[in-house]
Amino acid sequence: MAKASYDYRLGFGAWVNDMRNSALPLEQWPAPQMDDETVAGIVRALDVMADAGYQYLDTFGLYATTQYPLDIVSAFDDRERNRQLDRLFKAAEKRGIRFSMPLGLMTWGYDRIIEEDPEVRGKNADGSPHPHAMCGAHERSWEYIEKLIDAMFDRRDFGAVHLESADLGWCDCPKCAGQYGRAGYNARLNARAGDYIRQRHPGALTYTCPINWANWGLNEQGEQPKFTGADREAVLELSKHIDLFMDQGHRGRMLAWEDVPKMECAYGTSGGLWTYHGARLDRLSYFVPYPQRAAQFLREHHEHGARGCLYYQGPMDNPAVEVNSAVAGRMMQDVTRDPREVLEEVIETYYRPRNADARSRLADVFLAAEEAYFGQWDIAYMKEVQKLEPPGEFCVGLLFGLSPDLIGILWEPFLNAEGRMKCRKGLIAALRQLVEIEADFGDRARIDRLTRALMMMVQMLATIMGAKGEPWTD
Ligand SMILES: [Zn+2]
Repeated sequence: MAKASYDYRLGFGAWVNDMRNSALPLEQWPAPQMDDETVAGIVRALDVMADAGYQYLDTFGLYATTQYPLDIVSAFDDRERNRQLDRLFKAAEKRGIRFSMPLGLMTWGYDRIIEEDPEVRGKNADGSPHPHAMCGAHERSWEYIEKLIDAMFDRRDFGAVHLESADLGWCDCPKCAGQYGRAGYNARLNARAGDYIRQRHPGALTYTCPINWANWGLNEQGEQPKFTGADREAVLELSKHIDLFMDQGHRGRMLAWEDVPKMECAYGTSGGLWTYHGARLDRLSYFVPYPQRAAQFLREHHEHGARGCLYYQGPMDNPAVEVNSAVAGRMMQDVTRDPREVLEEVIETYYRPRNADARSRLADVFLAAEEAYFGQWDIAYMKEVQKLEPPGEFCVGLLFGLSPDLIGILWEPFLNAEGRMKCRKGLIAALRQLVEIEADFGDRARIDRLTRALMMMVQMLATIMGAKGEPWTD
């Protein structure tokens, strides 16, 4: 099989502190900090990404989270933040990676603007004021957006723009979604923004993430419904105005595979399976490696025509995060590679095994842990009770909160009682193997982090099983 690669290989932060290697245990999501620890976490991610051939890093929260000021430009004046951003942009440049501009399109960032300039505030379908969205039919909303785009390009060398228009809702007034429908309206917003960027800032890669353009749920055939009719036409039209349609697939994709070749832009996903890391969790309190599944999904999506991938990153001190990111990036450069061989290459690079046997046995540890957890996912529960396709995206903890999270991935809908028992057994077997070979690696600190993260999963499972009255002792 000939080498086959993804043309657009992007890492997704998704927010700056999601990649941080120390937790922010009391911080509401998304954490706004841009301090030394934030920078160190992102630079570590850039290191792993550069080794694995990623081209862009896309991360929200470089400047503001929800509160751009009315004049827009004063959001960029913070000297300390700019000093940290200088370091980040230099680090990325040195590693051959471009930053992507995070752009909430009419939502994400405009809460203060719609408070202080209420005329541009969007509406819900019943006419009530929208909590986050600007109205896309109001020209002044576009003035804010265009000013924001220009201000960011003026200040930083962005190589791409991430357009996202519906994560926090959209305007449903009679001139917006009230007229064109949800997908139709959002497609129009993105087309107009794409045209503006192409005209004013040619050369920047533009891509749309259609999160929230449709509800997640299963149709009668047991699948996530795909765009049809006017929605599908609106997306095909949008494809003339952007470079890449990033149909991430949080709980299933939105565009049918047979429509991919009809798009005039490239098509992308987020690689089929990814962890979302909040900032309040201890970085070594969970361990969910998926190198095998990453490889399998990337190959499958590529066969269907996907040529872009927005792959989630995370705190690289977590040994599963590092391996997931490192394996996925390498696979994106050649989806025909054997995932095990890629995993061993990653282990060779980061763990420095003393011999081939140690390298191979450590690969077994990662693959066994992957199977112990993901092999037990209760897919029937997800489909029959939740009426959803399996993730896509799964959050280890919660997005919103003000204290350290629970680890929510070890019970329903993910694992049932039998799954917990089998998962725990599988993880203990992986841990036993790891303890046997722990002296055979040059990077002892990495082995220690791996041992701790694996132990935490076993401990957490025992705690949950004990609390539920399930047998857990050996
Ligand atoms: Zn409107």
